[in-house]
Amino acid sequence: MRIENRISRLRTLLEEKILDAVLVTKEENVRYFSGFSGDSAVLLVTREYLMLVTDSRYTEQAAAEAPLYEIVAQKDGLYAKTAELTAQMGVVALGFEGGALVYDQHQKLCTLLGEISFDTSLSLDALRQIKDANEIALIRRACAIADEAFARVIGDIRPGMTEMEIAAALEWYMRRAGSERPAFQTIVASGVRGSLPHGVASGKQVAHGELVTMDFGAVCGGYHSDITRTICIGRADARQRSVYDAVLTAQQRALSAIRPGVTGAAVDDAARAVLDAQDLNQYFGHGLGHSLGLEIHEEPRLSQAGKELLQPGMLITDEPGVYIPGWGGVRIEDTVLVTSEGSEALTHAPKEFIEICL
Ligand code: ZN
Ligand code: ZN
Repeated sequence: MRIENRISRLRTLLEEKILDAVLVTKEENVRYFSGFSGDSAVLLVTREYLMLVTDSRYTEQAAAEAPLYEIVAQKDGLYAKTAELTAQMGVVALGFEGGALVYDQHQKLCTLLGEISFDTSLSLDALRQIKDANEIALIRRACAIADEAFARVIGDIRPGMTEMEIAAALEWYMRRAGSERPAFQTIVASGVRGSLPHGVASGKQVAHGELVTMDFGAVCGGYHSDITRTICIGRADARQRSVYDAVLTAQQRALSAIRPGVTGAAVDDAARAVLDAQDLNQYFGHGLGHSLGLEIHEEPRLSQAGKELLQPGMLITDEPGVYIPGWGGVRIEDTVLVTSEGSEALTHAPKEFIEICL
C-alpha cells in the first residue's frame, strides 16, 4: 500500500470521528503514515495539510523520506510547535493516540492546546494489522536472515561457550546479512535456565547434556522477524526428547489451524490440546503468539483472550513452550503469514530435534 492510501485511511478517520486533525505521535505510526524512519517527530494530518514536525537533526532525512509532507522544524519542543500549527490552522477538534502518550506528555499537550476538544481514543495501530506486499517482503527477508544466522550458529556452538557468546554470534551473523539491529534482546537460555521463557543470554556456559533455547530476530526496513529453536548439546535423554516432540507437535498443530476466519483463541486451543494430552499444559504459561510488523509485539494475539478473527495478510508468531522449573524448557517458534488459503511459515530453520555431538 502506498503512503497515499495510508493517508487516505487517516483522513477517513477524520470524517468518521468528526475531527479537524489527527496528531500521530507513536514512532512506528509516524513511519507507517509518512515513511520517515527517525524518531523525535510527530505528524499533523488535516483534510488539506500534511505536516511532519521534527528538529534540525532530522529535517534533511525527513524531507527525503517523507516527500508528501511539509517538514516543519521546531526549536522549542514538538508539542509547542504542534500547538502553534493547530492554532494557525484553526483546529478545534483534534484526535490523538491516547495509548501512545505518557501522562506528562498528555498534560503538556492539553495545557499548550488550550480550548481544543480531544479524541484520545484513536488506535492507529489497528490500521497496521493487515500487511501489504512490500511489508510482507521485508518480513520475509528478516526471516531469511534469522534462518541463515541459525544455520551458521549451529556450527559454532560448543560446550563451554557462554550464552552471551552464542547471542553475540547470532547477532553478528544477522547484522552481517543486512539486519538493521536485533529485533529484541536475544534470548539464549540453557539447561535449567530454559524454564525462564524470557531468559536473556547470561554469562552461563552451555554444557553437555543441556537443552539450549535461542529466540532471536532480524529487522529489515523497520520490520521484524521472530524465531525460536531449541537444540540439545550431546545426545538428548528420553524426557528431553518427549517434551521436544510434544512442543513440536503442538506448534505444527497450531500452524495447520491458522487460517482466515478463526480466532486467536481457537489456534491457541489447538496447541494447548496437544500439550494437555501429555500433561504438559500446566507448564505453558504464556499465549501462543503475537502479531508483528513495525513492532515486535502487535495485535491481534493468539491466546485464550484472542477473539479477533484472523485475516489474510496478518503476520503472527506460533510459539508454544514448556517450562519446567528445575529442569529446563523447550520453545519452538515460527513467524507465520495468514494467507487466503491458510498459513505460510516464513521462518524455515529446521525443526527436527538437533543434537550437537562433537
Ligand atoms: Zn521470539
Ligand atoms: Zn515471539
